[in-house]
Amino acid sequence: MLRKETYPIEGLQGNAVIERLLELMDDFTAGAEDLERCVGISLTVPGIVSDSQGVLHYNTKLRMTDVPLRQILEDRYGMRTWVENDMNSVVLAERRFGDYAFGNLIYISIGDGLGSGILINDSLLRGKHGGAGEFGHTSVNRSGIRCECGNVGCLDSYISWIAVYSRIITAIATGRPTLIQELSGGDYSKIVPSVYKEALCRGDKLAMDLNEEVAEHLGAAIVNLVNMFNPEALVLGGEMAHGNPELLAMVRKYMDRHAMPILKDDMVFGLASLGEDDKLIGAASVLLQDLFGFTLTE
Ligand SMILES: [Zn+2]
Repeated sequence: MLRKETYPIEGLQGNAVIERLLELMDDFTAGAEDLERCVGISLTVPGIVSDSQGVLHYNTKLRMTDVPLRQILEDRYGMRTWVENDMNSVVLAERRFGDYAFGNLIYISIGDGLGSGILINDSLLRGKHGGAGEFGHTSVNRSGIRCECGNVGCLDSYISWIAVYSRIITAIATGRPTLIQELSGGDYSKIVPSVYKEALCRGDKLAMDLNEEVAEHLGAAIVNLVNMFNPEALVLGGEMAHGNPELLAMVRKYMDRHAMPILKDDMVFGLASLGEDDKLIGAASVLLQDLFGFTLTE
């Protein structure tokens, strides 16, 4: 890798996100010596993405609808541009560069929100509008919390970091003792996934209870996926899963009790293998797959 830069989005939404992105890309490309040799730009983004049109159809958190990202970047930089859903890119990356060289592979990410990428017979499952794999908005409770997507009891409302964070705050506010309070110095804004996982490591009861609840909900949802898609391997990634082997073990146990034996017995189930550069490798994978069919690496 030649150069990597990371910037937070800082709560920006809508057009402001695009403006910021273009500013950053202007700076980034201004420092590049030899843009003529550049094959193109690969942009991956959460939400419902049409890769063929290069359009981000829908992202609730960024408040973006039908944004022609490819057109915008190609017009500005005069370079061929690929636009893909971020989870689709990561499942490709785990397939080609990670520990999971399987053509029937499901990648699930649990962070601020949930996402998944589904590879079937080595092809990405996209659906008509590029919306396949909205795993966080599958329901695990018919009489559950109403979600902004229109559904009720969405998995996202129970196990995303945002959901777990709000449970932690409620617990602290009602006087439940927890190491998380000590680790964050009593500052709610310092309660981040790494603090939660540190508390888990140290055997904090609240963190362990929450992890168990996450595992139950996630287990139920994953059993649905296993029974639907019969994957060769299923990978858990994202901040909530990274460095959380207990979660993996509990979900495996749930799966062993509830999924069809023939579908789950020899299914590989593990944690994501590409570390914090997964999305970067994912973006490169999209381009490599389309231009070269990965012939550069195999
Ligand atoms: Zn939903």
